[in-house]
Amino acid sequence: MAMDTDATALAAAKERYRLERDKRLRTDGNNQFVQLEGNFPNFDNDPYADPDFTRDPVAEQVDAVIVGGGFAGMLTAIGLTRHGMRNFRIIEKGGDFGGTWYWNRYPGCMCDVESMTYLPLLEETGYRPTERYASAPEIFGYCQLLGRNFDLYPHALFQTEIADSAWDDATKNWSISTTRGDQITSKFFVLAGGLLHKAKLPNIAGLDEFEGHAFHTSRWDYSFTGGSPTIDMDQLGDKRVGIIGTGATSVQAVPKLAEAAKEVYVFQRTPAAVGVRNNGPVDPVWFENLEPGWHDRRIRNFTEVVTGKEPDEDLVDDGWSQLMSVDCQKNTEDPDEIAELERLDFAAMDSIRQRVDDVVDDPETAELLKPWWGKHCKRICFHDDYLPSFNRPNVHLVDTDGLGVSEISARGPVIDGVEYPLDLLIFASGFEVTTDLDKRLGFDPKGRDGVALSERWHDGAHTMHGVLSAEFPNMMIISIVQAGFGTNFVHFLGESARHVAWIINECEQQGVAQIEATPEAEEEWLGVLYSVVGGVARYSQFCTPSYYNSEGSRSAKAARNLVYVESMIDYVGFLERWREAGDFPGARIEPVA
Ligand code: NDP
Repeated sequence: MAMDTDATALAAAKERYRLERDKRLRTDGNNQFVQLEGNFPNFDNDPYADPDFTRDPVAEQVDAVIVGGGFAGMLTAIGLTRHGMRNFRIIEKGGDFGGTWYWNRYPGCMCDVESMTYLPLLEETGYRPTERYASAPEIFGYCQLLGRNFDLYPHALFQTEIADSAWDDATKNWSISTTRGDQITSKFFVLAGGLLHKAKLPNIAGLDEFEGHAFHTSRWDYSFTGGSPTIDMDQLGDKRVGIIGTGATSVQAVPKLAEAAKEVYVFQRTPAAVGVRNNGPVDPVWFENLEPGWHDRRIRNFTEVVTGKEPDEDLVDDGWSQLMSVDCQKNTEDPDEIAELERLDFAAMDSIRQRVDDVVDDPETAELLKPWWGKHCKRICFHDDYLPSFNRPNVHLVDTDGLGVSEISARGPVIDGVEYPLDLLIFASGFEVTTDLDKRLGFDPKGRDGVALSERWHDGAHTMHGVLSAEFPNMMIISIVQAGFGTNFVHFLGESARHVAWIINECEQQGVAQIEATPEAEEEWLGVLYSVVGGVARYSQFCTPSYYNSEGSRSAKAARNLVYVESMIDYVGFLERWREAGDFPGARIEPVA
């Protein structure tokens, strides 16, 4: 009998998933968004850096230019240092190291992965995170600590962007110029410009007519809201604030807005799944007694657990590991196994939906806050204050029945003919992930014979392991496209950085003047990516659009811009075996003349 009830509930949920997905499917996919520059020139300004900063241009020859001073860039630089290579440059748009943690200073911003697995190099630095899920200012501070400890600051050119970059076949070097007049030639060119750094805005009719104040969450304007990342906002007490988006960022920011603003309107297209967070301090005694090697073990163990590898123990044992320990999009064709996975997925998401009922007082609001999608469709959030915010009289959920905000007047968003006048409109609308690399980087590298990356990749990415690309010698990419993907992004970044630093050092050691993927190896790698995609394809039929599936796009480009969908542990295995081979299989190499 219970089985029948379960089966009926599951069938109903699947039908609901399909309906909710269909409501949200649209033909414009990633094109529904606009980048911050262009139509909205002030949206991309750096609110944290000194606008009057100047410096003399640099003219130099280095071994490597690393684009990006976030974890990927820093870890690559640290990797090179460990190989004894110090002649590198880090070029960073922001005013300091930190990447994500430099830009994201919105109130409530914190790491949604346990600090002891997220923060890199904890054994080397001896740093003990204060909380299980550290807040953004602490993580930004840790990035600065890495910069100091590994002596990276002298290598960095901050508030600087690449203007032009071209491979010179005659000199076997990259020729790189920047927005500050620097002219750098470099043997290697590492693109570590960020996984989710290019902020986007929904291209909403009337967006540029809005007369109130507006900004994206990654450009938080504390001069308008008052407060700081560590001090409560104190200038919103008489303000009506709207926030568009209900992803991981919004889930963290809404509780802080709820405390500070007169009225808060949360414009929802798709409800977030919000599990229990249960944050708390890190026990110093426990931390001091960790055995050497604990950090790598913990990082690997967490990824094993949340990618369904079922290791003997679950060291982190938190919401992530409990919810994601079964890979319900497993690549299997066994109908019984598929049915069981669907049942487990439904049960997991039903507990999330039940939590909404338990926490939110108003049944109508609770109903609207329930996520009707599978647990692998979007990134799950964990927070203990988001759902209770909707019990406050000043917080209003404006559900758009899957359509999103599509019209803004001079006074505010208009939903179903109702105008919501606002003093402040915040865009928690996310970042580009699988869009064209040159757009995300903000420059278009020119490879052999001056062919631009956008040209060679006009039909989508061409890489081996997501790292090396034919016709772009000595260029290495750290981006999830055609590479690994996982809950703990820094695990992925650390492995990628290790790989890139290894390639550079090995080329130097083995007298290699240039290295790139062969087109054959790229297609072989694409074949590997496709060979494991079956389970995800089956699962995604019931997924609402998100950056996980290129916003539901079915274009040929989206088909190439995929990630290695099985466990990141397996992706790392490909990199490790390739390095162990020692002779760069699948790469075209040319020795030093
Ligand atoms: P997301 O892409 O996850 O969310 C964007 C939100 O904007 C979605 O809710 C989306 O709705 C909504 N949206 C887009 N267009 C419209 C529209 N026209 N009207 C209404 N809503 C709209 O971005 P986030 O910044 O929240 O998070 C991005 C990622 O950053 C996370 O997945 C996570 O990986 C990372 N992150 C990590 C944190 C950490 O602790 N490590 C903290 C915060 C973020 P819909 O769902 O329908 O598309």
